Amino acid sequence: MLMSPVEFFRTLPKKECPECGEHMEEQAESYMMECDRCLSKKGE
Ligand SMILES: [Zn+2]
Repeated sequence: MLMSPVEFFRTLPKKECPECGEHMEEQAESYMMECDRCLSKKGE
């Protein structure tokens, strides 16, 4: 049975920050692994 495109995207795992485990919004152009909070910490 083929999955519909909608079902396919729903089954994708949520992106999770490896630093704090925070779930992140999927950002197509983002290549960063960490969430904004951890990134700003590292920037200091
Ligand atoms: Zn984080």
